[in-house]
Amino acid sequence: MMKRVLVLGGGFGGIATARRLKQKLDPKDEVILVDRRDYFMVGFRKSWALVGESTLEAGQRPLESLTGIGVRVIRDSITKINPGAREAFLGDQQIDADALVVALGAELAPEAIPGFQQHAFNVYDAQDIPRAAAALSAFSGGRLLLGIFGAPYKCAPAPYEMALLIHDSFKRRGVKASIEVFTPQPMSLPVLGQVGCDVIESRLADHGITFLANHKATAIEAGEVVFGEKRRPYDLLLGVPPHQPPAVVRESGLVGNSGWVSVNARSLETQFAGVYAIGDVVQIQMPNGKPLPKAGIFAEAMGETVADRIAATFNGQEPEATFKGEGGCYLEVGGGQAMMVKGNFLAEPEPEVILTEASAQYLSEKRDFETQRLQAWFG
Ligand SMILES: Cc1cc2nc3c(=O)[nH]c(=O)nc-3n(C[C@H](O)[C@H](O)[C@H](O)COP(=O)(O)OP(=O)(O)OC[C@H]3O[C@@H](n4cnc5c(N)ncnc54)[C@H](O)[C@@H]3O)c2cc1C
Repeated sequence: MMKRVLVLGGGFGGIATARRLKQKLDPKDEVILVDRRDYFMVGFRKSWALVGESTLEAGQRPLESLTGIGVRVIRDSITKINPGAREAFLGDQQIDADALVVALGAELAPEAIPGFQQHAFNVYDAQDIPRAAAALSAFSGGRLLLGIFGAPYKCAPAPYEMALLIHDSFKRRGVKASIEVFTPQPMSLPVLGQVGCDVIESRLADHGITFLANHKATAIEAGEVVFGEKRRPYDLLLGVPPHQPPAVVRESGLVGNSGWVSVNARSLETQFAGVYAIGDVVQIQMPNGKPLPKAGIFAEAMGETVADRIAATFNGQEPEATFKGEGGCYLEVGGGQAMMVKGNFLAEPEPEVILTEASAQYLSEKRDFETQRLQAWFG
């Protein structure tokens, strides 16, 4: 009998799942992918577009082209998920399935910080990047503040990358500015431990960028960010807003104590039979109790794992594929170089994660990371 898999979300995780399912399932089985967006783009395009190094559009590909491999692509908003019945609603339209994969990512919640929407440029929102890029290129000097307003957030090194690339572009243009980066966390990248953080923080310091740890912003006013009793002035404010699961997921009964979807770290199964969740929408605890960072490379690997497990189950076999937790994120440091934060994040008892040296080779790998996926996924 024909079976159906419903994949909710067409980002890194959803696309990887749908593609792998098409390779593994009986051709008669149906794979449906739903996303309200009509294109895919890698997250780090935002860093490049912010400093005018490339455009967002150059890295966007239509989700519709997945129909070429037999995936049914629906462009719509998912308004309700009923995991107990393995069904989702797109307004009035109800779709049920033999397996359901929730890959809806993390939603940005700038409204959680009073004043964010009025005063800050949201550098994690593709819609706001053109405005932020214009403000940066018009910036002729003064105080630039780049703030992380909540944790966890996607691709933990990215805000530091943005600060270093902005520094580089100011240097080229001869702009005299003080750049400060703040985070609510006790160090720049907690997953690296103190030694790795020292490397990043001293690189920031070498470029004259002030790093402020343990800075939890509570509000933004004109010209000042408020941290409880303390304040910090700015002329231009770039922000990474707090993240949360999309509303449709928060209302689905899938969210656990962490505030994110709970899954088995290896099988990505939720508490509901035949319902899986992958990527940024889940929170997986590493063996040391800290959350697994949110990254596209993990969403992709989780998607492939889930597709293999669904295919095995449909074939009446015991599923064996497991999520390994291996991978990493690039950290571009300016001057044509990048570092990488990588390793085995699920290693016991502690994650085995390193920060590589900076090299032109890693920057070239970062570019290949995008090119390879765009070519393999969209031709
Ligand atoms: C600046 C920056 C740099 C980054 N650099 C890296 C890097 O170097 N390496 C790396 O691995 N990762 C990187 N990332 C992180 C990466 O982009 C994310 O971790 C990844 O996109 C997560 O994939 P996902 O499939 O879980 O979610 P997403 O890719 O966010 O996909 C979720 C999809 O769900 C859709 N959706 C949500 N709600 C609904 C709804 N109600 N109805 C319909 N559709 C909906 C959205 O439109 C979206 O397309 C970076 C991110 C940023 C912001």
